[in-house]
Amino acid sequence: MNSFAKTYRFSRVFAPISTVLLASAATFAWVDEWKSGIEWPTPPIVDAGSQGGAPADAIVLFDGTNLSEFEGGDQWEIKDGYAVARNNGIRSKQSFGDCQLHLEFATPEKVEGQGQGRGNSGVYLMGRYELQILDSYENETYVDGQCGSIYKQQPPMVNASRKPGEWQSYDIIFTAPRFDEGGGLAKPAYVTVLHNGVVIHNHYELQGSTSYIEAPKYTRHAEKEPFSLQFHGNRVRFRNIWVRENIHPLVGKQPDDATPGEATPTDMTDEPNNE
Ligand code: MG
Repeated sequence: MNSFAKTYRFSRVFAPISTVLLASAATFAWVDEWKSGIEWPTPPIVDAGSQGGAPADAIVLFDGTNLSEFEGGDQWEIKDGYAVARNNGIRSKQSFGDCQLHLEFATPEKVEGQGQGRGNSGVYLMGRYELQILDSYENETYVDGQCGSIYKQQPPMVNASRKPGEWQSYDIIFTAPRFDEGGGLAKPAYVTVLHNGVVIHNHYELQGSTSYIEAPKYTRHAEKEPFSLQFHGNRVRFRNIWVRENIHPLVGKQPDDATPGEATPTDMTDEPNNE
C-alpha cells in the first residue's frame, strides 16, 4: 500500500471518529447551569392513602360511621357506610379557611322532580359560598345553578355529572377571602374544583356570598368558618368527607449574596440530569 492509500484509509477510519469525539466534547463542555440559590425545606411526606381513603394528614370528618363532626348530623340517616340527607342541613364543628375539601355524593337513583328540585344539595364553603350539588344528568335548569356551579355566579366549565344514584366526587381547593381591619375586602376568595376528576373551576374568583334572593356580596367574617351541607328536600347521599389544611407553598430561604436569576457555574458531571 502506498503512502497515499494509507493516508486515505486513515482519514476514512478516523475522521468520522474524531468528528464524533469533537461533537461529544461540545456536548459535555463546561456550561453555566442556572440555580436559584434558594434553600428549600424538604417537602413533608404524606401517605396519599388507598383508593377511596383519605391522605394521612387529612382531617377525616366522615368515614361512614357517624356524623359526630357535624352540628345536626344526628338528624341524617347513616346506612351502609354513607349518610343520607334529611330534616336539616349539617354544619362542620370545626372551622376552616384555606383548605382542600374532598367529599363524595350521590343524588337519588329514583328520579323525581325536575330542575332545581332534583337531587339538590350543596357545599357551603365557610357557610356562605355554595358549590351546587344537583342531579344534572339530563336535567335542565339555569346553568349557573346546575351541578358544579358556584351558585348564581359561575357555571361549571363542563358538565361532568354521572347518572342518578352513581357516586360522584368533589375535590375543592379553596382560598378564603381576606378582609382589612375596616371590614373591607382585601383579597377575594378563590376556588378550584374537580368534579369526578374533571376540572370545572380553575382558580375562580368568587364575587361574594351566594344567595337565592340577592346579588353576590362580601361581608366580613372570620378567617376560618364551618362549612355546611345543604338539605334541600332531596335524599342526597354522602360519604368519605375529609379536609386538608396544608395547602400553602413551601417557603425557601433566599440566598444572602445572590439575587434570584443569577447564573451559577456548575460542573454538569455533578448532576447529569439537567431536565
Ligand atoms: Mg343547592
